[in-house]
Amino acid sequence: MSDNTKFLLDESKLPKAWYNINADMPVPPEPVLNPQTLEPVTPDFLSVLFPMSLIMQEISTEAQIEIPEPVREIYKLWRPTPMFRARRLEKALDTPAHIYYKYEGASPVGSHKPNTAVPQAFYNKEAGTKALTTETGAGQWGSALAMACNYFGLDLEVYMVKVSYNQKPYRRMVIESYGAEVYASPTDRTNYGRSVLAEHPDSPGSLGIAISEAVEVAATSGGAKKYSLGSVLNHVLMHQTVIGEETLLQMEMAGEYPDVIVACTGGGSNFGGFAFPFVRENLRNGKNTTIIAAEPAASPSLTRGTYAFDYGDTAKMAPVVKMHTLGHSFVPPAIHAGGLRYHGMSPQVSALVNNGDVQARAVPQLETFEAAITFLRSEGIIPAPESTHAIAVALQEARKCKETGEKKVIAFNLSGHGHFDMAAYDAYLKGQLEDYEYPAEAIAEAMTQLPQVGG
Ligand SMILES: *Cc1c(COP(=O)(O)O)cnc(C)c1O
Repeated sequence: MSDNTKFLLDESKLPKAWYNINADMPVPPEPVLNPQTLEPVTPDFLSVLFPMSLIMQEISTEAQIEIPEPVREIYKLWRPTPMFRARRLEKALDTPAHIYYKYEGASPVGSHKPNTAVPQAFYNKEAGTKALTTETGAGQWGSALAMACNYFGLDLEVYMVKVSYNQKPYRRMVIESYGAEVYASPTDRTNYGRSVLAEHPDSPGSLGIAISEAVEVAATSGGAKKYSLGSVLNHVLMHQTVIGEETLLQMEMAGEYPDVIVACTGGGSNFGGFAFPFVRENLRNGKNTTIIAAEPAASPSLTRGTYAFDYGDTAKMAPVVKMHTLGHSFVPPAIHAGGLRYHGMSPQVSALVNNGDVQARAVPQLETFEAAITFLRSEGIIPAPESTHAIAVALQEARKCKETGEKKVIAFNLSGHGHFDMAAYDAYLKGQLEDYEYPAEAIAEAMTQLPQVGG
């Protein structure tokens, strides 16, 4: 076992291929449906929104997909990212467990999101796309895609959830600094945005609404603009698997193998990227790691949503997929400060949870910030509010080890830093945050609006 605190990989160890879990899924994938007909989509339908290379990745069953050299060149600006042994945290918890974390906040924009933004911009450029549209919540995805579009000379329009646009001006400024345009959604630039504003002039917006606007702009652009999504889809999770592949090598350097791994889940991309290579080792190579997806109690799609076909957006323009969902009309509670606000979940992550290969756990908000404070006062890094959900579950596991005396090896993904989210920490430190459980009646009501898919 290594005495190191940091585990750094040489640039030559940067993965040459992404891992496509479609090759090993224990259950066959459900079809993606056209939102109008509820019949399986054709590549034609999807090609309005995405370049064919990404559509082929979405449905590929090849286990390895080569990472193009121009993408690896840009990855090298921050990859391989470091993995740390959290020795000071272990001491603070007085636990016999060994705790490791992979740090994706080392990227230029401070999160894992450029791992897919860069290849998405690359494949669009290669296909002749001139401009992209996208949505962003807190601005992490918008920043990542703005950086990537800048590298490949693509224009970018970002539809940013209005409440975040107003409350998180620094992320908007980051996006604009990379050269992209940002609009507070709902906007008056789209039919759907105008219809929302007509009904609710003060709408704070939601990810579902912003997705609808970005999709509408691309779909009605006559081919000039394509749409890009930062999570949920198979190809997005696949691009993120560089995280888990590097972590496997770094655990080898540490001379240990994790008994438990944890990542937070919004749409599932940092979780899938970190966990899928470990799921492969469980399914194919006889490993037995407990794999946990951590989500907010205020937005609990995996633990309290229904596993059903649902629309990917509020206006029912995006494809219908089978996933754990709180209903496409979901608007997250304003008191919730921890991100991870999407109504649905990656179909791959949903299928693995449904099949018992992955566990899901919901954490109340005060516990996540409490865990973040314990973490940052030991390890120094201020975590993104999203990442604190993974930390909270890792702490739960480490405290269990203290009770039982077990020396488990726990590894989690620190998906980003929280330097632009200090207002959430401020609210926590001032005692202004409270726990919030999403109400069962709201979930039941939303379930009556699911599309009626036969069979
Ligand atoms: C966007 C984001 C998430 C949530 O998205 P996933 O697709 O579920 O990973 C988590 N952590 C950080 C830092 C993010 O920016």
